[in-house]
Amino acid sequence: MANMVKSTEIRLKSRPTGYPTMDNFEIASAELPEVKEGQILVQNLYMSVDPYMRGRMNNQESYIEPFKIGEPLNGDAVGVVVKSKNSDIKEGDYVTSLLGFREYFILDQSNFKPAGLEVIKPNKDIDLSAYLSVLGMPGFTAYVGLFEIGALQEGEDVFVSAAAGAVGSTACQIAKIKNCYVVGTAGSNEKVDWLINEAKIDNAFNYKEVSNYNSKLRELFNNGIDVYYENVGGKLLEAALNNMDTYGRMVMCGLISQYNNTKPEPGPYNLFKIIEKRISMRGFIVFDHIKLKPQFRKDMQEWIKAGRIKWKQTVYEGINKAPQALIDLFYGKNFGKMVVKLA
Ligand code: NDP
Repeated sequence: MANMVKSTEIRLKSRPTGYPTMDNFEIASAELPEVKEGQILVQNLYMSVDPYMRGRMNNQESYIEPFKIGEPLNGDAVGVVVKSKNSDIKEGDYVTSLLGFREYFILDQSNFKPAGLEVIKPNKDIDLSAYLSVLGMPGFTAYVGLFEIGALQEGEDVFVSAAAGAVGSTACQIAKIKNCYVVGTAGSNEKVDWLINEAKIDNAFNYKEVSNYNSKLRELFNNGIDVYYENVGGKLLEAALNNMDTYGRMVMCGLISQYNNTKPEPGPYNLFKIIEKRISMRGFIVFDHIKLKPQFRKDMQEWIKAGRIKWKQTVYEGINKAPQALIDLFYGKNFGKMVVKLA
């Protein structure tokens, strides 16, 4: 059939033990059928790889369905409609969806919502990939975490881990917009330099070069931490607990240092600090806060326009690189948002 579209997709081949490897993925080719009445054909241009996908590679019940063996993975993507037999969506429209890890997909109207399909009107000054970072899920996670979970107030003292990543770098800069004192951690001196000189936060340190996090935080936070934006866990979490101010808030966004553990990691050993300092520690999942999205988009677009938010991204070229991009997140090879460019 002349019109048949071939689409390369990334399937889960096996479930990892510890860090994922290339053997856990299969690069396969699928042939898509003809586009029928009411359907659209989308070509993905960029797709996202995110730390939460590691949990979905396990076969365990969680807040989100595990990936299935032999089926394509999925995640955020931005694409263009290349064929439309649907009256609401035109060819050439740009869309975001949850159908990453494949070059093309066909959708019925009845699947628009479950597939998270949203038509976007991209600003010509902002690269489309921004819909996977500052204007997308990671940016929204930073916003929800700081305001809804952390109840951030003007001028507070804020500590952010994995601060040069997609969520962390946005959280740092939103806190600066709110005139906070902001300190971040990152895994290389280049990332630390960017945080201080480009993102203009007050201080940052390379957690791989500091041996005593506790005394480092004591030195950097004379009055204690009001809001800790947690992306990492482990010894950083323990040190943050020791250095929280009374009534401080811990925004439990992620614990990436533990996602590849093969057995549970004991600690933190100082949980009594929560009582002593009247700390609140609250976890959240960004998808529960969709009602805040319009306000987030409005605020973020204004901040970007005013030059108040900078972002970096690491781009891997071609769908075949998607497995490596996902693996590399857990070795800190991304600087800012990790995305894969498909077309
Ligand atoms: P990032 O862009 O921050 O990429 C991950 C970064 O984590 C790496 O670049 C690396 O940076 C750091 N890292 C990796 N392994 C370790 C380790 N063992 N110890 C310390 N740092 C490590 O990813 P995201 O911004 O997408 O996600 C950040 C966090 O937010 C994750 O924990 C994620 O699970 C969480 N998250 C939670 C959401 C929610 O709804 N609760 C939604 C989205 C994300 P470095 O060089 O600094 O080591």
